[in-house]
Amino acid sequence: MVPETKRENLEFSLPLYDPSKDLVVDLAVVGGGPSGLAVAQQVSEAGLSVCSIDPSPKLIWPNNYGVWVDEFEAMDLLDCLDATWPGAIVYIDESNTKLLGRPYARVNRKQLKSKMMQKCIVNGVQFHQAKVVKVIHEETKSYIICNDGVTIQATVVLDATGFSRSLVQYDKPYNPGYQVAYGILAEVEEHPFDLDKMVFMDWRDSHLAGSPVLQARNAKIPTFLYAMPFSANRIFLEETSLVARPGVPMEDIQERMVARLRHLGIRIKSIEEDEKCVIPMGGPLPVLPQRVVGIGGTAGMVHPSTGYMVARTLAAAPIVANSIVKYLDSSGDQLFGEALSEAVWRDLWPMDRRRQREFFCFGMDILLKLDLEGTRRFFNAFFDLEPRYWHGFLSSRLFLPELVLFGLSLFKHASNSSRLEIMAKGTVPLARMINNLVTEKY
Ligand SMILES: Cc1cc2nc3c(=O)[nH]c(=O)nc-3n(C[C@H](O)[C@H](O)[C@H](O)COP(=O)(O)OP(=O)(O)OC[C@H]3O[C@@H](n4cnc5c(N)ncnc54)[C@H](O)[C@@H]3O)c2cc1C
Repeated sequence: MVPETKRENLEFSLPLYDPSKDLVVDLAVVGGGPSGLAVAQQVSEAGLSVCSIDPSPKLIWPNNYGVWVDEFEAMDLLDCLDATWPGAIVYIDESNTKLLGRPYARVNRKQLKSKMMQKCIVNGVQFHQAKVVKVIHEETKSYIICNDGVTIQATVVLDATGFSRSLVQYDKPYNPGYQVAYGILAEVEEHPFDLDKMVFMDWRDSHLAGSPVLQARNAKIPTFLYAMPFSANRIFLEETSLVARPGVPMEDIQERMVARLRHLGIRIKSIEEDEKCVIPMGGPLPVLPQRVVGIGGTAGMVHPSTGYMVARTLAAAPIVANSIVKYLDSSGDQLFGEALSEAVWRDLWPMDRRRQREFFCFGMDILLKLDLEGTRRFFNAFFDLEPRYWHGFLSSRLFLPELVLFGLSLFKHASNSSRLEIMAKGTVPLARMINNLVTEKY
């Protein structure tokens, strides 16, 4: 089936950057996703001049973002949620479910983007519709070269281009795991899910009983269903491979999804939207520090064990924005060029955040090695933990001393076979994590 919805633009008249004026803006933000716009909005609020560059600045973001309600509440963004569920459910297998008493929501991406754009416009942000192809740096400013021939001059350049990582440099082999998912927002005849619970993970595999090939593939590298039931007839369904290296092929994911929906008796009447999701997870951080600063996918901020990022980057935007404003302030300790970028990177990736990321990468390394049964045992123990542990882990709120307690608690809750599995499969990643923590230099 072909999705019915065409990509929609916001009805804004954008103040455009005027190349003929040859101005040097304080900040050029490359990429108008949630991360880039959040920083543009906050830096311009402080009275600095900002230019936001994106090939489609008015386009409503295409991804269906799901977040925990408390994450958006903490940022005063509850008005940017369009559906909420008081809780969530995890199907570990056919007979074991976990009820999660933590409200979950879908982000109203039109509202979130409109809100940010409106603030940017009021604050005087200038927009330029193009793709950036190159940046050339001088000591105190940079030239941002766009694919339409326009060059924009800026004191600071922020790469917020998501997973395309257009400007930020990496010096280590890029070897992430991949989360791959296929999602549809569909009108259905009926579905079996409760309307007051979103389905965070459904690891059941009885739908594959009639297909030994698919069942064997799923037993080795499992996929789960993630679902947001909006009404009895409207639902978002996404078949997801949590993480694999290399990523599971999209066709494989779609084949498994068809089998699952058929088994669940979900007959699709029409598809409003679909999304093909390929999220690189883990891997090395970019070179720290470097002249171009970054945020979001480009700056290694996706959660290496879950693929979530939107709440984390929106929460990090004020850190990057405040840092840029502080170091550009001529009445304070003003910095320029490399020194300024180094200070911003240091604020974005302080030591405790880098240690946290190493731990999450360790989590990803274990998940990469687990088959269906191992994954089930892992999440069975994970969701039995005290809520502060699993909430904190999923929302990047636990830091190293607590992460060690989290790890020990997970180990305590795990079955004997799961403990053996963690010890057998976790030794090498654990050694790598410890080595990285010890040799951390920046
Ligand atoms: C299908 C899908 C579903 C997802 N669901 C979730 C979810 O439920 N929850 C969650 O937390 N995360 C989710 N993610 C992860 C998600 O990508 C991020 O949370 C979020 O989009 C990151 O925002 P960003 O601003 O860093 O990057 P993006 O949203 O990727 O924005 C980058 C922007 O940069 C622009 N750009 C790229 N290259 C250039 C260039 N050279 N010059 C100028 N502009 C450029 C792009 O056009 C784009 O507008 C999902 C990802 C995908 C792909």
